[in-house]
Amino acid sequence: MNDRPILRMPDRRLRSVAAPVGEVTDEIRALADEMLRVMYAAPGRGLAGPQIGEMRRIFVMDCGWKEGAPDPCVMIDPEIVWASPETASCSEGCLSLPGITVAVTRPAAVTLRFTGLDGARHEDAFTGFAAVCVQHERDHLDGILCIDRLDAQTRAAMADVLRRIEGP
Ligand SMILES: [Zn+2]
Repeated sequence: MNDRPILRMPDRRLRSVAAPVGEVTDEIRALADEMLRVMYAAPGRGLAGPQIGEMRRIFVMDCGWKEGAPDPCVMIDPEIVWASPETASCSEGCLSLPGITVAVTRPAAVTLRFTGLDGARHEDAFTGFAAVCVQHERDHLDGILCIDRLDAQTRAAMADVLRRIEGP
């Protein structure tokens, strides 16, 4: 089967809540491979299941491959179990929102609990761009996009653009 295309807004699947994965099967390992191929080809640094219409709680990321060696990560059934009170603002883009870049303020550091491809639960701490990526991709699993994280002033200034993104 060919790799699936990346969905773009206003596809409603991008606004839906994804279902837990549970056990890591061969099918899930094949899905992770497909998602990594689609992400690298895009080219992007993160991709969540719903972005290719796979409504399950899985995302892939590789924050540094454009600058250095590839380091693919697969996070299944991820939960953010800690977020720092300190925040940081970062410019974010999304493969499902081509041409849109927004400044988003989020916790500067997070701890993520997730199932790896080995089937075991893991816990990892993320800071810097990796923390941004983890939070952005984790949001996709609940149908939340980076444009939902804007402050009120930016939302008001971008009202026309946001309306067009949501579609009819
Ligand atoms: Zn995205």
